[in-house]
Amino acid sequence: MTAIEVDTTRLPLLLTELRLPAIGRMWPQLTERSDRESWPAARLLAALAELEIAERGRRRIERHLVEARLPPGKTLDSFDFAAVPMISKARLMALAAGDTWLEKGSNLLLFGPPGCGKTHCGAALGYALVENGYRVLFARTTDLVQKLQLARQALQLEAAVAKLDKFDLLILDDLSYVHKDQAETSVLFELISARYERRSMLITANQPFADWNKVFPDPAMTIAAVDRLVHHSIIFEMNVESYRRRTAAGRKPVASPAAATPSIATPS
Ligand code: ADP
Ligand code: MG
Repeated sequence: MTAIEVDTTRLPLLLTELRLPAIGRMWPQLTERSDRESWPAARLLAALAELEIAERGRRRIERHLVEARLPPGKTLDSFDFAAVPMISKARLMALAAGDTWLEKGSNLLLFGPPGCGKTHCGAALGYALVENGYRVLFARTTDLVQKLQLARQALQLEAAVAKLDKFDLLILDDLSYVHKDQAETSVLFELISARYERRSMLITANQPFADWNKVFPDPAMTIAAVDRLVHHSIIFEMNVESYRRRTAAGRKPVASPAAATPSIATPS
């Protein structure tokens, strides 16, 4: 049998043009193996296609991790579940699978005193959801409110809110840190209304609802916002002592009912 000469000089160019970088990198190896093992042509084609798809998936997740702006290191792996007995690892893993709660646009509300692990827990869930193919955005609520206010001034609020639709989950960290002048415009309420029953939000706050009157322009709007947020929601009350304080004291973290007493921290 005479070897058939194939001119492959143009192949790298063609693969670049077709935007198939994984095939571009791997075809010499795979075609060589295919020749050596006498693969049917369809098997080689399938192997190359699978390779490109797998790499595309990985690149997409990498992009989604960057766009999510999650705080570094706050993952499920580094989260000590023993410190928060009211949250089981199984429960959080189930939420990390996404599925029904994200499809229904349900919300997750995390309440508890400063240092109890709300941000870490929310971010950890964010990381896990991105790994599972969802799109997430983590933001300090005050920062996002500021951005939306600028959009409103430019008469672009609707577009700015619509742009956030691409995220399956919006993590609003420290909702109760929204300050008086920020509350005067109702951008946060508009955001909550726009996502209601469609797109999920994860909200952390030191106080469950009690002091949210300063977050919204008036009490009626606070009630309307809370109503929408809790309608389809899962609430975690993380009434444990500050993890920072406990670890600093070198004590084994345990739940302490004393930590349920409200303690307000100023934004840091
Ligand atoms: P909060 O947002 O409730 O104020 P953080 O999530 O910022 O609290 O937690 C404070 C610090 O303690 C962070 O460095 C966080 O990583 C750590 N931490 C809190 N809870 C846990 C936990 N259960 N396991 C591991 N680290 C924790
Ligand atoms: Mg926090």
